[in-house]
Amino acid sequence: MNENQLSKRLERVGELVPVGSRLADIGSDHAYLPVALMLQGKIEYAVAGEVVKGPYESAEKQVRKNGLSEKIIVRLADGLDAVKAEDEINAVSICGMGGILIRDILEKGRATSHLNGNEMLILQPNVGEKVLRSWLMAQGYTILSEEILEENQKIYEIICAERKSAAAVYTEEELTFGPLLLQSRGNVFMKKWQREIAQRRNVVEQLKKSKINQQQKIIELEQEINRIEEVLEK
Ligand code: SAM
Repeated sequence: MNENQLSKRLERVGELVPVGSRLADIGSDHAYLPVALMLQGKIEYAVAGEVVKGPYESAEKQVRKNGLSEKIIVRLADGLDAVKAEDEINAVSICGMGGILIRDILEKGRATSHLNGNEMLILQPNVGEKVLRSWLMAQGYTILSEEILEENQKIYEIICAERKSAAAVYTEEELTFGPLLLQSRGNVFMKKWQREIAQRRNVVEQLKKSKINQQQKIIELEQEINRIEEVLEK
């Protein structure tokens, strides 16, 4: 992967970034996403934020190599601390991390006013999507689009959200499966949840062999399996 040839995952994230955006890409590592979008002429300005020195230096190098240092500002900072009011950011991407970490970055950004609530959020959690959707709902965001894709045998979800005047309310099922993914039920979605069932069945089999009484845990997992199966059969 490089700035001209993004991974399928980051390419799909990039497609969701509105044309002409002023983007903050948090956890930017090599700054592949902002550099690629700038080279495509899709975004106007970007901040690439990184908390770790090595990836921060890689991002700086990448931006410099492409002659984009005036349009992409690389900052060594924790989460949304990378964003300043004068950046006039209107889109934030946070990709390739767990949902809990993304939620924590957003929450800290909200609490410190680095996130003003008017930005479009394009989020790609590797796991923990439910936690993230729950935070989005609690903060008055509406999920505008959701994507699910498979790359190198891994399945990724992308959630794009914005704050609207009327807050969206999602059911437990929608928070777990994704309100829009649940409607479209594509092949990758079905595959993901069949894998989730198989993983749980595996754990149940292991627990049954345990010398300690694991009955409660087994019941919980079997209930989860039933709930997932019910959704897939709808
Ligand atoms: N966003 C890129 C992508 O999706 O390919 C890079 C993903 S990489 C797995 C996660 C990056 O997030 C790492 O470079 C890590 O240092 C950075 N990161 C983790 N926590 C962060 C935080 N609180 N603030 C900024 N960057 C963070």
